Formats: sequence, C-alpha cells, structure tokens
Amino acid sequence: MLTCDTIIRNANVLDGGGNASEPLDVAILGDRIYRIGRGLRVDASKHVDAEGLVLAPGFIDAHTHDDTAVIRNPEMLPKLSQGVTTVIVGNCGISAAPVHLNGEPPDPMNLLGGSDAFCYPTFAAYVASLNAARPNVNVGALVGHTSLRNNHMDELDRPATAVEVEAMRAQLHEALAAGALGLSSGLAYLSAIAASIEEVLALAHPLGAAGAVYATHMRTETDAILAAMEEAFEIGRVSRVPTIISHLKCAGIDNWGRSSEVLHLLDTARTSQPIGCDCYPYAAGSSTLDLRQVDERVIIDITWSSTQPEMAGLPLSQIAEEWNVTQIEAAKRLKPAGAIYHSILEDDMRSILSHPATMIGSDGLPNDPRPHPRLWGTFPRVLGRYCRERNLFSLPEAIYKMTAMTAERFAIPQRGRIREGYYADLVLFDPEKIIDMATFSDPTRPAVGIQHVWVNGSLAYTSRGLTGNRSGRFLPRGQVSWIE
Ligand SMILES: [Zn+2]
Repeated sequence: MLTCDTIIRNANVLDGGGNASEPLDVAILGDRIYRIGRGLRVDASKHVDAEGLVLAPGFIDAHTHDDTAVIRNPEMLPKLSQGVTTVIVGNCGISAAPVHLNGEPPDPMNLLGGSDAFCYPTFAAYVASLNAARPNVNVGALVGHTSLRNNHMDELDRPATAVEVEAMRAQLHEALAAGALGLSSGLAYLSAIAASIEEVLALAHPLGAAGAVYATHMRTETDAILAAMEEAFEIGRVSRVPTIISHLKCAGIDNWGRSSEVLHLLDTARTSQPIGCDCYPYAAGSSTLDLRQVDERVIIDITWSSTQPEMAGLPLSQIAEEWNVTQIEAAKRLKPAGAIYHSILEDDMRSILSHPATMIGSDGLPNDPRPHPRLWGTFPRVLGRYCRERNLFSLPEAIYKMTAMTAERFAIPQRGRIREGYYADLVLFDPEKIIDMATFSDPTRPAVGIQHVWVNGSLAYTSRGLTGNRSGRFLPRGQVSWIE
C-alpha cells in the first residue's frame, strides 16, 4: 500500500479549471498532491473526512498590497481565513522592492507602511526577507513603476528623462532576473500621472521577452476610462506583453451604468491580444484620500488621517459639517489620509465581476487601521453572496476565477489546479455556509465556512484558527501559458 502524509476522503473536488465537481479522495505527500482517485488505498498519518464539503485549489488573490504585511505579520490571518494560499503583491505601481527612499514614502507608497517598512534596496533582498519570514501564504511579486520612479527621480510630477528611464530599466531587469512576475503601474496617482506612454513603453518593452506581465491601475477610471483602457492595450500590444487591468470599475456617479461600454471594449481588444482584469466584490473602493475624488454626492469614509487621527472612522460629510467647511476643505486638512469611496454602482460591479476575463482580487489594505472589508471578506463573499445567493456564476466558474485563471495569467507554475504532482495548496469549505462577515462598520471579522487550508502540503488553518505551521514561499515567475 502507498504511504502519504494526509488523506482527504470523499470531498467534492473542484479542480480549478472550471469543471463540475467529482467525489474523490486526495492524498498529500510532502508539499505535493500525490494521488487523486476514488477509494484510494493509501496509508496516511492524517485523515480528513470531507463528506459534504468542497475541496478546491487554494485561492490566489490576484491583487493585493500585502508586500510588507507578509514579512511583518507573517500569520496573514485576513487571507488564510478566506482560503487564500497565494497573494500577488506589488500592484498599482507601488512595490516594497526595489526601493531606496530619501525621506518619507510618497503617496500612495505610504499604503505599504512608513519609511521603516521599506528596507529592500533590491528585489533579491525582498525575496530573502520573505523566505526568512516564512509567511503563511505564498507570494508572487510585481515591480511597481512608481517605486522605480521614486528611486531615480527628484520630483514625480514630470516625465522621466532618458537617463532616469535607463536606470529604472536596469532595476527592472535585475528584478525580473530574480523572479518578479512583471511590472505594475499606478498612472492615476499624482506620483505617476505625469509619466508619458513612452516612459511606460520603455519599461514594458523587456517584459514580453521575459515572459512577464503588465498590470495597470489605469490613468483614470472615470469619464475618460475608455481612453485609459486604449492606452493600456497599446502598451500590451506594442510590447507584446499580456496585460491585466487592475480593479476594473466605472468610478464616480457620472460614470454609473457604463460597464457594458467598458466590457465591450475589453472584449473587442481580447480578440487580438491577451488581456484580463481583476475585480473586488464591493460597490466601494479604497485608497489614500484624493481631492480629485471628493464629490458631495458620494459617501466618503475617512479610515485614517495623519494630521487629524481622531477623525478616523467618520464620514467626510460629518467632519466637514463639524468644522463648518466644504468637504474639499476638510479633505485638505485631513491629508495625508485614507478613505473609502462609495462611488461604484452595484450593477456595474456585478457585470464586471461575472465577466469571463475577470479574476478575483481583494485590493485589501492590510496597513489600514480601519480597512475596507474586502481585506477580510472578498473570497467568501464571491462564493456565498454572489455565487450561492445571487447566482452570478456557477461554483466551478467562481473557483476558476480565483485559482487556475489567476495562476495561468501570472505564469505561476504547478498551482491553481488539483492535479497529481501539483503543489498541495488546498482549501476545504462548506459551500452552504461560506460567507463573509466583515462589514464597513466591523471590517476585521473573519469569514465563516472555511474548514481547512493547506499551504505547500502543510495544514495552516482550520475553522478553529491558525495551526502555527507556516510554509508559504516566494513564487518566482514561470513560463507564460496564457493564450486564450
Ligand atoms: Zn490600484
């Protein structure tokens, strides 16, 4: 008889590829899925009866800002408690590495922490720290365009010079050689909006040959969103690089109802080049407080403020009223600050979430003292609220959007599917009970319905909590297999 470490019996197995579930046993040996079958004859030291439960590949969070959290808080409970076993960091142009700071990190790099959080002058130094910290989740990392700009430019409100672009490219090369998944940009932010398309093209150019990706928080998500999409597609097309539109949304009340236009443009472009996107399942976004997004018709909650910390948790409208000033004036006094913007139409979000090109990404902000509930709730919310209750998509489809699709888009090898020989990143959950518990007023409550989570073959989480086994790793870039 074969011997393995763990045998999971009678699970409804969803393989991650979108196929219907099958009742199967799954055996784990070391860090791998050893055997899959019915009535497997194996000896194991650990037995799990999974009757009535779903076994899926561990979820991959396509869009995170967990760069420093995975090292400073390696338990990663917000993610593990959702069944997430891999996070993609370095999004929106801001990565923790490679970074050397002169003073405080500029907005929005400050979402990753204060100046003390940035201690990785090279990508390789970040990888070494990550592996030493042994976080509970695996980590794939993008290099942020804004981080590179800040390394080589004295002022960020202008395009980079040829010499600066060359210096940025050299650092990007070094990071790609050390396993980075690709480049991210955050062109909407004031720290990158002055970058020309030529500047981004110069950096995107080496990505294609390296088999890396380009992920972008586009130049705008409001009125001119279609032009911003065209710019992203052009960068992908010219550089021959797969392109990922980050947290796709129609932001601002004047753009409500435009998701069909946006998705039509996405579909058209997808016929000639590889393009995907990610989305979080909420009708509100969150980032640093941006004066350009202050709109008296939109509810904005302040999550933190460096100058007025006692105002955290209050709506901007109430703060403005208390101070007897306009919301813009109040926002100026609160900055630097964090905010949640209730500026997305639920119907638009649902259309984008259910689109076949869309991966699930939380965009959670782990350093926020009053985070948007997406940090703790995204994946169970997709499975409970939008799959089971609202029927936006089937369960195999929902799982595909958070596993195999994501692994293939980011060229992460041997993960995202339940297959013999693949890494044993697995989540066992109750499909009837799984649901998010985090809310805007109580944002750090763990989800319910996740029974067991294995990372690289070792049990990291059960419904009773963390097990103390930390076995996450840095995941270097593999071969792109994304053709669609
Ligand atoms: Zn972003």
